[in-house]
Amino acid sequence: MTADPRPSDAIDASAWGVAHDELVELLRGLIRIPSVNPQPEPGFDGELRAAGWIADRLRESGLEPEVVEPVPGRGSVSVRLRGDGTGGDPLLLLGHLDVVPAPPDRWTHDPFAGDVADGYVWGRGAVDMKNLVAMELAVVRLLAAEARDAGRDPAIDPIPGLHRDVLYTVTADEEAGGLAGIAWIVENRPDWLQAAGAINESGAVATTYGGRRFYPIGVAEKGYAVYRISVTGTWGHGSMPRDDNAAVLAAQVVARLAIQGPPRLTSTMAEFFRQLASNLDGDAARVLGALASDDPRLSEAAVDRLCDPMSSRVVRALLRDTVSPDIIHAGVKYNVIPGEATVELDCRILPGTTEEQMRAAVIERLGPELAAVCDVSLLLFGQPVDAPASGDLYDTLVRVVREHDPDGVPLPFMVPFATDAKHTVKLAIPTYGFSPLRLDPEERFLERFHGVDERVGLDALRWGLPVLYDAVRRFCG
Ligand SMILES: [Zn+2]
Repeated sequence: MTADPRPSDAIDASAWGVAHDELVELLRGLIRIPSVNPQPEPGFDGELRAAGWIADRLRESGLEPEVVEPVPGRGSVSVRLRGDGTGGDPLLLLGHLDVVPAPPDRWTHDPFAGDVADGYVWGRGAVDMKNLVAMELAVVRLLAAEARDAGRDPAIDPIPGLHRDVLYTVTADEEAGGLAGIAWIVENRPDWLQAAGAINESGAVATTYGGRRFYPIGVAEKGYAVYRISVTGTWGHGSMPRDDNAAVLAAQVVARLAIQGPPRLTSTMAEFFRQLASNLDGDAARVLGALASDDPRLSEAAVDRLCDPMSSRVVRALLRDTVSPDIIHAGVKYNVIPGEATVELDCRILPGTTEEQMRAAVIERLGPELAAVCDVSLLLFGQPVDAPASGDLYDTLVRVVREHDPDGVPLPFMVPFATDAKHTVKLAIPTYGFSPLRLDPEERFLERFHGVDERVGLDALRWGLPVLYDAVRRFCG
């Protein structure tokens, strides 16, 4: 622990108790607004209502938020807290309002009731990501209250002790690529995002491994390229089978692409393994050390030996560009040989792989004969993200985690999925996954994303709020 007092120490325990209770109510309020994406019907206004609800909470704090609605029913909200301008570019607190649908049949609690039970807040978005949206909102409201207590108007005056501005921007449509949310903001309101760095979802959630508690901070994300392969065969009568039946050719496409390619170690994963190894002992340390040294012969077996099946799947995905054939269409009638078929691929690419390289790898794996009857077209593309695991903001995040959990190990990590960070990268904003939660070792947090009975622990939130507050105060102070 550093000798320097933590900014959060200036707030006494009972005031943190009040702030925690308020955080829980903010989270429940957000969960009760079913901001599902895709919209159940055109014009459905869940995201707009959630944006308006946040704007109301910000106005209660004396701030002047703005809401935009680029597509009917789809709102995003932003507010700026002022620093005195002596500390450089702003800090961005980023989040998304939308959640994936939650068919209620298998839930033990109504996914949109925001129940508190058994030490958890339950509901769709409790993990992805209304928890962090509410934590960021709670921090913004604390800062605004400190300005009011100092006799200042938080809408226009600097917040006491802040040298940089703090931007809080929460967007629609993250779960479907961001076109109706952050992509629109990048084009039309970049002032809502322009910052020295951003705090975003997916990181700093405690994970216990080998008896140590680790806090993987999201510095990198895989990108994606979605392809449609149109396979051309020959139409015919089902009574006389043909080798160039497009369904048969599509099956070969799927079989070839389902075999994953060779591993490639990125700098983030190398650093992740290196830091894991240096904080563990024995066999685990040796194998992780070997993984960090980029020996592809070791990686598959090592990963399987070290991890449970869920974690091995994650780690294997983080060591290569992956291909998942997820949609196959062929055929019109049982006795008609199909002359055409389509296969859609979800390819997830590592930082350093371009779309052109991914496409070339797909075509190469088909082989020349199969590739000759396939046309590969790009449907969607999201850039990989790779922020530095160093610099003022990253170092601040590491520091505040250590200050709040001296036995915990913060370390850089890459997530296998994409977030809104693929858009902030276009404005060159280093974006970090940092939604600090201290969890019990048994908690299956990763499985709660988009899952049944999504929920977040009250104690995890209680720990996280002052961590986030200190991250903001330390970086902007
Ligand atoms: Zn999310």
